[in-house]
Amino acid sequence: MAHKTTSDIGEFGLIERISAIVAPTLSASEGLVQGIGDDCAVWRPASGQVEVASTDLLIEQVHFDLLTTPARHLGSKAISVNASDICAMNALPRHALVSIAVPPSLPVEMIEQLYLGMAAAAREYGIAIAGGDTSSSRSGLVISVTVTGEAPEDSLTYRKGAQPGDLVCVTGTLGGSAAGLRVLTREKLIMMEHLENNETYSRNLMADLEEYSGAIQQHLLPLARLDIVDLLHERGASPSAMIDVSDGLGQDLRHICRASGTGALLQENRIPVNSTARLIADELQDDALAWAISGGEDYQLLFTMSKEEYEKISDLRDISVIGAVTPKEEGILLRDIYGITIDLEALPGFDHFR
Ligand code: ADP
Ligand code: MG
Repeated sequence: MAHKTTSDIGEFGLIERISAIVAPTLSASEGLVQGIGDDCAVWRPASGQVEVASTDLLIEQVHFDLLTTPARHLGSKAISVNASDICAMNALPRHALVSIAVPPSLPVEMIEQLYLGMAAAAREYGIAIAGGDTSSSRSGLVISVTVTGEAPEDSLTYRKGAQPGDLVCVTGTLGGSAAGLRVLTREKLIMMEHLENNETYSRNLMADLEEYSGAIQQHLLPLARLDIVDLLHERGASPSAMIDVSDGLGQDLRHICRASGTGALLQENRIPVNSTARLIADELQDDALAWAISGGEDYQLLFTMSKEEYEKISDLRDISVIGAVTPKEEGILLRDIYGITIDLEALPGFDHFR
């Protein structure tokens, strides 16, 4: 029998299946009063905390390609990128609302895989998927995820708090996502060529690309750094400004500097470039450092912190000090290993409209 499509089971059939898949996430939320099934989701905020919320749109052919992205990974990523925004406020994610617009011809199984991925990621972060909306789409698949979170008001970290003299820190490694995307794009071209020549394409993507998995994982399954937010809270270490690296280190640092009215000076040799990205860059004769600075989508946390606060976390290997905040007049610069400075304000970042 052919695959069941969403037009076969209809909106309510689809919502029923979705509801069953996300049910296990509901236990994550102590405060949840009403999940899927009424006109609104209802939850009780924890006492003494403020609510934060963030939303992201994912559009087929703009943000993802179903040829190179397994639906389950896409679901996981959709939750992770929103959880990452909540983490970037130094808050903890709590609830999600998910809206989808689905082409009627799409196999139901794909939507189920999408929600299995979302539910798995949600459980990882302690997020309850509490509702959403479902529509048909005349072009591609559209996914909109809204995540709410909570934090004591005085521990929220904005982009605007950086002070000259603060350290600039970043978690994990950078450039992996951009490198993974390059590999997947190359693979897609090979696949298209095979299809055009009527040859079979029988590679097991993940197995054959094993040596690149560090980067492909980073692209398809980025993780929000909730672990770092937990650590910051545990240690009582307060960043002065924070953002997640979605557009690229250079661009996201610019966001912090603009909001804070400061400059910054980064040291090239301190930037933690993803090791698989280096390998891929060598092979493609490209530049892994450029991916680390302009690639984006690594979803690491970029933050500034006073030296005194940093003492509380200086033993953590997964946080790199990559530079310092400077007065605004000094600009936003990167000093390379020869001591030559590059103007980061002149570098391109990701912009949807260009
Ligand atoms: P309404 O007519 O008020 O939009 P729906 O029939 O669309 O209500 O939704 C019924 C319930 O299912 C609501 O609780 C809603 O939050 C939930 N829901 C609908 N679509 C989705 C989805 N794609 N993901 C998660 N929950 C959904
Ligand atoms: Mg609806």
